Amino acid sequence: MSKTFSLEFFPPNTAEAEAKLWDVISKFSEYNPSFISITYGAGGGNRERTVEFTCRVKQDTKLSTVAHLTCVGDNEEELSRILDRYQSQGINTILALRGDIPKEAPKNKKGVFPYADHFVSFIHDRYPDFKIGVAAYPEVHPEAKDSATDMVNFKKKVDAGADFAITQFFFKNKDYHEFVAECRRQDINIPIIPGIMPITDFKQINKLSQLCGSQLPIWIAQKMEQLKDDPEAMLDFGIDVAAKQSQDLLDNGAPDLHFFTMNRTPAVLKILERI
Ligand SMILES: Cc1cc2nc3c(=O)[nH]c(=O)nc-3n(C[C@H](O)[C@H](O)[C@H](O)COP(=O)(O)OP(=O)(O)OC[C@H]3O[C@@H](n4cnc5c(N)ncnc54)[C@H](O)[C@@H]3O)c2cc1C
Repeated sequence: MSKTFSLEFFPPNTAEAEAKLWDVISKFSEYNPSFISITYGAGGGNRERTVEFTCRVKQDTKLSTVAHLTCVGDNEEELSRILDRYQSQGINTILALRGDIPKEAPKNKKGVFPYADHFVSFIHDRYPDFKIGVAAYPEVHPEAKDSATDMVNFKKKVDAGADFAITQFFFKNKDYHEFVAECRRQDINIPIIPGIMPITDFKQINKLSQLCGSQLPIWIAQKMEQLKDDPEAMLDFGIDVAAKQSQDLLDNGAPDLHFFTMNRTPAVLKILERI
């Protein structure tokens, strides 16, 4: 079976960023990704921008497009409006997420779907033709009490109709393999695509790792500390780490790879050239 890869982008917030992103997407298109996905409202981004940009990608390119959609804070009408729009544009794969609960959200304003499994059920029932992806956490979701509880909750999303999962980024492949093995023991048999975050910026990766509960191994942190004033060497190091991680995942059973591109080309292109 031939393996492939997908790419994740966030919607651009200025005309200049949009022009750059089209350039990035066109460079990646030459490598035939299985799909590209566009994040929704992540980090406080504008949600309408995601919908517009995702539809543009579908209209203007030949790429398969996956739309991220979070349910936190929204009602059925609003979510249906977006899902109808995607359906009318021929976008038929949704990465169904709960999203992060804003700290300031009043308890009664968290939306009609408290967790992603409720949202997956809703899409599955109302939009039976949609393919549904969900998020998975090899190192456990930061809010979860423990890994066993998180696994029970992950299974709820799968039982509700998820067709595939993409993981949060991680650096130790052992975490991914153990997570997948436990899923199989729990009779969770959907493809679980590993999410790869190339490290190019020390501050950014430190912050993201803490936020997402993805542990940065000490040897990587120490090396990045040494290279922090040499961006070129840092980039080479990040590419080397991610290329070796990706190759090892592919050699050991990962179905495909999903790259968090951070809307940049050089690192991911070099990784693709190496694997
Ligand atoms: C590949 C990927 C892409 C992402 N893209 C985006 C994006 O575009 N926009 C964005 O805002 N965020 C995005 N995120 C982040 C995601 O929204 C956050 O991690 C969020 O905190 C959880 O979303 P979820 O869908 O995993 O939630 P859930 O699966 O609902 O899980 C959230 C927490 O609740 C617990 N839980 C789940 N179901 C139940 C239940 N029925 N009862 C009790 N507890 C339960 C889980 O154990 C977990 O701790 C992405 C994450 C990944 C891995």
